[in-house]
Amino acid sequence: MNTAYFDNNATSAVAPEVLEAMLPYLRDLYGNPSSMHTFGGQVASAVFQARSRIAALLGADPEEIIFTSCGSESDSTAVWSALQTQPEKRHLLTTRVEHPAILNVAQYWERQGYRVTYLDVDDKGRINQDEYLRTLTSDTALISVMFANNEVGNIYPIQRMAEAAKKNGVLFHTDAVQAVGKTPIDLSHMPVDMLSFSGHKIHAPKGIGVLYARKGVRFRPFLRGGHQERGRRAGTENVPYIVGLGMAAKLAGEHIQEDRIDMARLRDKLEQGIVARVPDCLINGDTENRLPNTTNIAFKNVEGEAILLMLDRLGICASSGSACTSGSMEPSHVLRAIGVPFNYAHGSVRLSLSRYTTEEEVDYVIEHLPGIVENLRAISPYKN
Ligand code: PLP
Repeated sequence: MNTAYFDNNATSAVAPEVLEAMLPYLRDLYGNPSSMHTFGGQVASAVFQARSRIAALLGADPEEIIFTSCGSESDSTAVWSALQTQPEKRHLLTTRVEHPAILNVAQYWERQGYRVTYLDVDDKGRINQDEYLRTLTSDTALISVMFANNEVGNIYPIQRMAEAAKKNGVLFHTDAVQAVGKTPIDLSHMPVDMLSFSGHKIHAPKGIGVLYARKGVRFRPFLRGGHQERGRRAGTENVPYIVGLGMAAKLAGEHIQEDRIDMARLRDKLEQGIVARVPDCLINGDTENRLPNTTNIAFKNVEGEAILLMLDRLGICASSGSACTSGSMEPSHVLRAIGVPFNYAHGSVRLSLSRYTTEEEVDYVIEHLPGIVENLRAISPYKN
């Protein structure tokens, strides 16, 4: 086997239909959608179609879709806009398990004098809803809670949390980069004010993202200049990528039910296959309520990076639950927030599937991973 790809939460393959849809806009249809001529007009129609497809996937109106360059830009813009439109409010409310695209932005605003609350999570990575309600104040400019966690796959109760925010008159943003296409989202029934997502997690290319901004919510652009995106994001539109994302959204909408079933079946087979063969491992996160494509397994007394290197030699792509902090590998902020015991957190490996993951790939990992862990434990300096 050449490559068994289990790193879809990092990035995903471009779907063949997406590439096909993009090619004409890279080759022949290079007009500027803002131009007056028919040549540009054709391109403007393609951008409109993509916007409509994305809106349909989210239960939104096409006018509520703003194209950006990535999920990080969408997250930064959401926070920026909320703070700029409500200068009198000085509090931000988020969680300890957000992606750095939110956490680092929150920390930046904290250094600028804002008060930021980072909600704790329990040993399954769940947010305490009473604490959430207690922390909401009339001074809160924005609540930003991720829809689904990129490391352990937990899905958060965004419907309930957004309803509480609305009741208290506080803006609510969700980072749905890992959720779109993997769990149904219907913004026509969910009072979320802003939502971010990214093309490269749903089989579109890297370099295209979306910020949904509900009609009527005051908005301040992060990137100023031309009047593109109704004055909400300057810069000539990245037409081929927008068209690609539109196609990816169409496919996600058409396949979501079967994809969820197929991915969950393969993920469960993978997880059970490993847990049955490897002693002393546990599943990180909330197995009752998580993305269908994600498992995060902690192996006691081994280094996750060593497992990754061994897997890599066999062509298996996965991720570890560690991040490089001042030159040494530390368990990620998510695993620390969950309180995964140290000798397990270090040996955490994330395997994330997609609609293109095959049974063969799953069998290949089940065949090899247990032996890798056993061999590493045999030479591990930790006491087993
Ligand atoms: N938010 C979450 C939850 C993510 O998983 C990621 C990427 O991994 C991002 C934001 C950033 O997205 P992008 O890489 O498109 O900037």
